[in-house]
Amino acid sequence: MTTRQTYTTNAINLKSYPLKESDKIIVMYSRDKGIIHAVAKGIKKPKSSLGARMEAFIANNLLLSKGRNLDVVSQAETLNSFGDTRKDLDKIFYSMYLTEVVNNFGVENDPCAADTYDTLYNALKAIACATEKKDVLLTVLKFQLKIMHISGFSPEFNTCLKCGCKVDSNAYFLINEGGIICENCINDSRGKLVIHNKIREFLNYLAQADYSAVTDYETKATEKVCEVCFNLLKKCIEQHSARKIRTTEILAAI
Ligand SMILES: [Zn+2]
Repeated sequence: MTTRQTYTTNAINLKSYPLKESDKIIVMYSRDKGIIHAVAKGIKKPKSSLGARMEAFIANNLLLSKGRNLDVVSQAETLNSFGDTRKDLDKIFYSMYLTEVVNNFGVENDPCAADTYDTLYNALKAIACATEKKDVLLTVLKFQLKIMHISGFSPEFNTCLKCGCKVDSNAYFLINEGGIICENCINDSRGKLVIHNKIREFLNYLAQADYSAVTDYETKATEKVCEVCFNLLKKCIEQHSARKIRTTEILAAI
């Protein structure tokens, strides 16, 4: 008889698919390996000890057994269930958006696994702790910018994509190209997205800011400004995403 090889890792649940009567395949983002798919056996049975631990965006410390095709979750110890998120619809949807973005950009044996895991974990934690919607949005904006940075497509908010000059006034943002062009370089401004200088500076600041930062930018930002920025960054992320991001359709409807 051969003993199955096992390994442990910290992972956040992203998604699940039904498998057989009582099993599910869980897609998770692990701190060591990036995306992993594993079978949670008997999870649909009422007495399953894994059931609650395998719900969306819960972080677990896992013991997995290597399988021929898919690994199997042998044990799960919850590190954080982000309980305060589960009582608030906005928090739930934005947390779902975060996990969907990670699911779309994460890969197996991801070289950026630790960075991506920490970015997601800390954002989920900050959302759970937030006391108002503006704080949820500020966290999501920082997450969007961090994920774009990790994935290698940070938007350019400082210099004009055409002439390379340093921009310190209102500019135009080109979603397709992921950056700004200055007022001198724009031939036809029709249908172009104007980015106000203050928004440009705000996004530049957020790209460097920690989730726990509380500066004038966080204090003075309004929910409306955060929503405008969220939609801008959401479009930039969608440009690079192979799959459609569905949570944003739900967000737009609420
Ligand atoms: Zn220019």
